[in-house]
Amino acid sequence: MKLLAPALLLGFLFLAGCGSPVAVLRHNVRYLELLRQPSPEWLPVPVEGVSAARLYDSWGDARDGGARHHEGIDIFAKRNTPVRSATAGVIEAKAERGLGGRTVFITGPGGYRHYYAHLEAWGEQAVGDWVEAGDVIGYVGNSGNAAGGPTHLHYGIYAPVGGAINPYPLLKAVPPPPPPPAPATPATIAEAG
Ligand SMILES: [Zn+2]
Repeated sequence: MKLLAPALLLGFLFLAGCGSPVAVLRHNVRYLELLRQPSPEWLPVPVEGVSAARLYDSWGDARDGGARHHEGIDIFAKRNTPVRSATAGVIEAKAERGLGGRTVFITGPGGYRHYYAHLEAWGEQAVGDWVEAGDVIGYVGNSGNAAGGPTHLHYGIYAPVGGAINPYPLLKAVPPPPPPPAPATPATIAEAG
């Protein structure tokens, strides 16, 4: 009986297309909470030391002579600049192939998938690991079809329904104010004392 409820939940989530069963198993409650959250209306620039003011919106630009359109943003930085996860989430895939070269997919709030490509190297996490926003998940490079060109991070965001969305407005948005400090209660005063 103890195993039945998680098994049913897992089966339901799998059928509902809610992320990977492995992530559900490993991170159950906080992963389900993550999927339930709305996608953020603001995201930090995922490359260390790059301000939002320096970004250029290349969403939709022609690539390969117009054969395809750019589904993301290119964030230029020196080789080996740390790439930090824009959100909390679970490492869904790490791969080295094709256009993206060395890539990481992270499933974040609302089930949105965050794609980091052309990496020089990966961070220390394994597939299935949990990351917090700001954790180093890789290093800027020019792997894949960026080889020979300037080093940059290609950052893409994929909605659970409808595919790629433009990261640029989210990176340029004004960050929310920090939450107000919790009012001191007798217990916290006692702890502080
Ligand atoms: Zn790109």
